[in-house]
Amino acid sequence: MLSVWEKESFISYDYLIIGSGIVGLSTAISIKEKDPAASIAVLERGILPSGASTKNAGFACFGSLTELLQDIKTIGPERTYQLASQRYNGLLKLRARLSDDAIDYQNHGGYELIREEELPYLNDIEAVNRLLSPIFSGLPFLIDNKLINKFGFNADSIKSVIYSPFEGQIDTGKMMKSLIKYATSKGISIITGAEVTGFEDDGNAVTVSVKDKVYDTTAFKAKKIAICTNAFTKKLLPQSDLSPGRGLVLITKPIDTLKLKGVFHMDQGYYYFRNFGNRLILGGARNFDKEAESTTEFGVNDKITTKLEETLKTDLLPDTSYDIDYYWSGIMAFGDHKEPVMLKHSENVYAGFRLGGMGVAIGTEIGENLADMMV
Ligand SMILES: Cc1cc2nc3c(=O)[nH]c(=O)nc-3n(C[C@H](O)[C@H](O)[C@H](O)COP(=O)(O)OP(=O)(O)OC[C@H]3O[C@@H](n4cnc5c(N)ncnc54)[C@H](O)[C@@H]3O)c2cc1C
Repeated sequence: MLSVWEKESFISYDYLIIGSGIVGLSTAISIKEKDPAASIAVLERGILPSGASTKNAGFACFGSLTELLQDIKTIGPERTYQLASQRYNGLLKLRARLSDDAIDYQNHGGYELIREEELPYLNDIEAVNRLLSPIFSGLPFLIDNKLINKFGFNADSIKSVIYSPFEGQIDTGKMMKSLIKYATSKGISIITGAEVTGFEDDGNAVTVSVKDKVYDTTAFKAKKIAICTNAFTKKLLPQSDLSPGRGLVLITKPIDTLKLKGVFHMDQGYYYFRNFGNRLILGGARNFDKEAESTTEFGVNDKITTKLEETLKTDLLPDTSYDIDYYWSGIMAFGDHKEPVMLKHSENVYAGFRLGGMGVAIGTEIGENLADMMV
């Protein structure tokens, strides 16, 4: 039973945001920027953000050449241009909002490894550079095959390397910690351990039910809510068009002789790896057991670890000795194309989700667009 004090000070808000990932926090911040007097709370089911935003690999990326060519096939050149532009602009806004120091943004470039089967994609590099040129201050993709030896890749399997000067890397933990700090400094409340189990919009306001260890359920109230629960959105909006996709990541112990520096993509984005200081982070291979990986449960799939370890040994670090330290997983949301979903579900309920595995860059932009729809 709630006290008058709790009812007066903790329960009712102008805006409630569900989910404290990069999209939820960015939405809350953008709403506050547009409506500084608004009271805003973010409800997060975990003690920490518990989806993808604190689990990712920290690529500040906008899509590799082969990924973008696939996007052009699926959604056409204009929408692919929009998507790349939203990602790059989102990244610029995130960096401006939090500062490069706070998120440990480093620009050592982005690289895509091209194997025999991907060589035909190189024929389209000029067309993609032309398409994307208004976004960047130079060519986004350049072929540089000297990098195969420089980085120590297996030259029998890696036939070419594409370099992008506009991709960088962040420290994901520092970014999320400073995003939380920034949100709270603007007066936004973040309530953790608050799993939303349902909501009801009566046309004037929304009642949001939260699982509560003490009282069973606590009902919060808001004029408007935003559902920013990405892969977990079907629990609240069962009709949402998304499939969850678990991503598995490994980190090595420090490697004194590590030659790699930057963020690297392979196999149309299905593999990704980067240096973190002198450790290597490698993730992906979800496509080797897609059905099992279409889950919202965290966990480690042995089929995928085998594939990741094989690739690490054979293609990426063929002449380097290393030890794998540990694995972790996070959950993303995908659809039949990579464009995010932003929608008005009912009079006072909005949602933004399905970031297609590239939320670091586009997340800030989605938050801003959602705030534009709500305020
Ligand atoms: C392994 C991995 C590697 C990745 N690497 C990169 C990368 O290098 N670069 C990049 O740009 N992107 C990467 N991504 C994708 C990126 O992390 C996501 O696109 C982005 O974090 C999605 O942000 P979000 O806020 O939409 O979702 P999330 O971060 O998943 O946030 C949703 C939040 O909602 C909470 N929630 C869910 N249900 C409820 C509920 N009922 N009540 C209350 N709270 C709830 C969850 O606990 C979670 O904290 C990666 C993702 C993974 C998993």
